[in-house]
Amino acid sequence: MECTLCKSELDLSKSHILSEFIYEYNQLYDSNHRYQVVSTNPNFKSKKPPKGIYEKLLCKKCEDHFRDLEDKASIQLKNLQDDTKKRASNFQFNTSNYKSFKLFQLSLLWRCSVSNRPEFQDFTLAQHEENIRNMLLNNRPGDTSDYGFYAICTPKNIDSVKQLIIAPEFMGNMFGFDTVRLIYFGFFWIFIIANNAINFPSELRERLFSKSGILTVFVDNKGMDSFLLKIALELRKAGKI
Ligand SMILES: [Zn+2]
Repeated sequence: MECTLCKSELDLSKSHILSEFIYEYNQLYDSNHRYQVVSTNPNFKSKKPPKGIYEKLLCKKCEDHFRDLEDKASIQLKNLQDDTKKRASNFQFNTSNYKSFKLFQLSLLWRCSVSNRPEFQDFTLAQHEENIRNMLLNNRPGDTSDYGFYAICTPKNIDSVKQLIIAPEFMGNMFGFDTVRLIYFGFFWIFIIANNAINFPSELRERLFSKSGILTVFVDNKGMDSFLLKIALELRKAGKI
């Protein structure tokens, strides 16, 4: 089969769409190593699979490339989560590695986009998918404004939010650019879907993950509380809780 990343015809291994450490560290598995999948779509049946969502996507070499990014990102994300618990207002977090953290984040978005799994069927990066594939394949994180991102969190409720993974969704636009929201590890990650943008607004650039490895994190307790309530109400309406 063809590897989705390098396009070589090779044996493919089962790859997690969202890395396994995200499920494990945030205690998404119960004592039987199962986690709960729910959808506000009434046609999507709730289930309790034994493993995160995976699919045959990558050859061994590409899988190892992503694993390397994951190993670094898992440490950065754990430190970020610990730091967030001590915060009460917006802050900046130093990941110390622009390249690996940026590529890891892009690898998550890209995997969700190329996945054929029903959980991600509504999400596609369309023409951006190929741009991001090239960035990942060639280990090029691009400029701050190329598919940049920032985070939003609620320090007081991070222990609840960290148990949620919500597939990426397009959320309208900011300064004329499409935005995508992905929720995992206790954070809302907002991506700006732009590349090679001319005259990229400095106001937007300032909040994006910077080349010096600094992540901007916005604290929004109120906004996230109302978001959680909205999700709960939608699930209740769909008869899922
Ligand atoms: Zn490959």
